[in-house]
This record gives sequence, structure tokens and C-alpha cells, in this order.
Amino acid sequence: MLAVFLRAFKYNTPRCFFIVSVLLISLFHASGVTAAPVVEKVRFYTAPDHTRVVLDLSSDSKYKVTRFTNPERIAIDVIDGSFSSDKTISVNDGVLFRIRRNPLSNKAQVVLDLTGELSFRDFALKAAGDRPHRIVVDVYSADKKQITKPKKNENIITVVIDPGHGGIDPGCIKNGIREKDVVLKVAHELKRIIDKQKNMQAVLTRDKDYFLSLSKRYKKAEAVGGDLFISIHANSHKSRSLSGTEVFILSLDKATDEEAHKLADFENASDSLGLPPGNKSDDDVVSILMDMKKTHMVNTSSIFADEIMGAIRRSNVLSVRRVKQAGFVVLRSTLDMPSVLIETGFLSNSGDRAILSTTDGQKKIAQALNDGIRSYLGIPEIKPAKAEWSLRYKVKRGDSLWKLARRHGTTASKIKEINKLKSDNIMIGQRIKLPAESGK
Ligand SMILES: [Zn+2]
Repeated sequence: MLAVFLRAFKYNTPRCFFIVSVLLISLFHASGVTAAPVVEKVRFYTAPDHTRVVLDLSSDSKYKVTRFTNPERIAIDVIDGSFSSDKTISVNDGVLFRIRRNPLSNKAQVVLDLTGELSFRDFALKAAGDRPHRIVVDVYSADKKQITKPKKNENIITVVIDPGHGGIDPGCIKNGIREKDVVLKVAHELKRIIDKQKNMQAVLTRDKDYFLSLSKRYKKAEAVGGDLFISIHANSHKSRSLSGTEVFILSLDKATDEEAHKLADFENASDSLGLPPGNKSDDDVVSILMDMKKTHMVNTSSIFADEIMGAIRRSNVLSVRRVKQAGFVVLRSTLDMPSVLIETGFLSNSGDRAILSTTDGQKKIAQALNDGIRSYLGIPEIKPAKAEWSLRYKVKRGDSLWKLARRHGTTASKIKEINKLKSDNIMIGQRIKLPAESGK
């Protein structure tokens, strides 16, 4: 929903009128006629480096956060507030012991019992779409878990799998089936398949149901030295007849069509759900986007996308639509690795939904994705090669230094060095020296 709101602002569609009226209503509320707030729900999510506590409120409200010691705790006072339930929630995730609700005479007090002297931040979020007014407190774990950087071994290919959405952001929901759950299952299955293969390993950006910002996703991909990035999603459309897989790559300028544009807005908008108000998006961080290297990587990503599409087509698990381009934030990691975003199927279509929501269907999708990754990498040819650099190879359409390097068990920079190439671009018909493909 939020996506629609953002979009309406940006593109000046007739929905703007709706936005304006919503804004007017909330201004009106803020100016004094607000009913006493009720804390309708208290929720929490455990993320790798923090625990997020969210208070859902019936209306906008003043609040105060106070830290107490001995024992360590944080009190969130919702001024003039009351509770709809005063049950204690036991957490025990290493950060919080429990969350208690104290109904007091002029405030509703939520107490977080901490496991130690921990840092925190708090912020309020206004109601947006179907989400109520919220107060959010993030408590950071003492030993911020470092991302374990696997030792970079030239012969091991690291595939970063990014299950879309998570935590407060469910993605699209149809008939009770939530995108965030489906894609997490497919991702786990794909990781299991990849990890079983020789010279390959998979890393998940999130392995449980928690919120993760888009920038954290691609930064993690870069931190673990990923070779390929694959973001998994499920789609939804008002037309229930629409079905099939779509694969997206980053567009450096315009989305290929209006639908692709809308979809990118929807997927990107999930990011603002977890950000404090006024936080800048990562747009300037990624403004370095428009360089040649990027263009080159987009081209490489499009070959990767074609291979994934081909594998889905061969698997017959879902129908295939086409490869499109759009400005997905999560694909901006393409600076370092070929990256695709896969909308596996449509939850709004009963046929696709039946496949996406069953273990059997999820396994088949994961298998097809793995096949796509393998054909992109040119496996089974890949071998840790010590072969001689004798093969005079004629560059074909679709070849890239990176792809040839993988196929011949070497690196793009090594090929450049041996062939004294000045740029990353190779031309069709060009002859280059490569190590002989061993065992073929
Ligand atoms: Zn999604």
C-alpha cells in the first residue's frame, strides 16, 4: 500500500487527491481533537544485531522513553494512553528478557527488561496505508554480530540469496499466503541445494522473519564477497489471470514498462517502513551508479537473467514472462556482481499460488533457479584449472570476461593480464588466450 502512496506523490497521478485528503485528516487530528491513544498491540522482532519493539497505537500520541539501571530496563510512556491487553510478553532473545505492560493512571507504560547495558534508539511513525501510528524502539545487542566474511577462495563461488521483505514488511498477501514467508522458504531450499555442490556456497541476506533494509541487503552481499546476487520475490496483480515468472535487472535509466516501474516502486517502498522519519534514502550513496563499469555489469546481469529464465522455462514449474529492467534499489549491488531480482510467480493467480505455497512447488522453483545459476556459470566445465594458457578462443555473443573466467577456472583480471587487455569489454570475434578447459 505504502508504495502506492509514495508513487502518487512522485508521479502526480489522480491518487494524489486521496493523499491530500488523508493528510488533511491527520493534520486535523494533530490539532487537538485526538482521542486518548490506546496501545493496541506490542510486537517485537529479533534481527541479527538488534531487537525491535513496536507499539501499535489507535492514534498519534506523545511519548517518552527513559532508561533505568539496576536492573537494566527501558520504559516507554505513552502519555494519556491505555492498553487493550496488559499481558507480559516473554522474549529471551539475548537482548530482552521480557516486555511488560504497566497500565498507570495517566499513561500506558511499556517496560523492556534488558539483558545488560545496551544502547537503543526510538522513533515514531505516522499511520500510513493500512499501518497504524507506531512507536518503535530498537535495542542493540551488546556484541553486534559481525557478518562472517568467508575466506575468499577463487575456486568457490558465493551466491548471495536475498529473500524479499520480512518482519513488519510482509510483501504482498493473497488468501493468507504472505510473500515474505514463501520467498524465505524458496531461499532456504536454494541455499540447501547450492551448499551441496562442489565449489559453491550460498549466503542468505536474511535467514529468518525479520526486517532488513534494502541497503543492508546489498551491503551484506558485497561484504561476503558475493559472485552472484539473486533477490527472490513473489508478485501480485489486480488481474488474477496474470501468471508466471519475471526476472528483473537494474535499469540505469527508465523501467522497460509502466508495470515494471510500479513494481520497482512497490519493492523499494518496503524500505521506508523500517526507517526513522527524515532518514535519507540511500540514493546519494548509489549515485556513482552511472559509470561504464556499471553498464558493463548490467549487461552481464542481463545474461544471468536470460539463463535463469531459460532454466525456469525448461523446468516447466511456472510459465515464463520476460526479462525486464527497472530501478530496484536492491539490485544496486550490481557494481560488484551480476544481480537479478526474480518475481517467481503471482500470488494473485490461483495456479501460481498453489505452486508457491507448497513445499513441492518451492523445491521445484529452487531447483530451477539453481539450474539457471549453473548454466550461467558454465558448470560442469568449471574446474580449478592449472591448465596452460594456450587456447585461442573466439569471443561469441553473450560472452563476458567474467563468464569466460568462470568457465575456464580463472579470474577476469587474470585474463586481462595475460591478454594485455585494457578494458573489461571484449568484442564478438575477438581472439583471446584462455586456459584450456580441463576434463572436457
Ligand atoms: Zn516483493
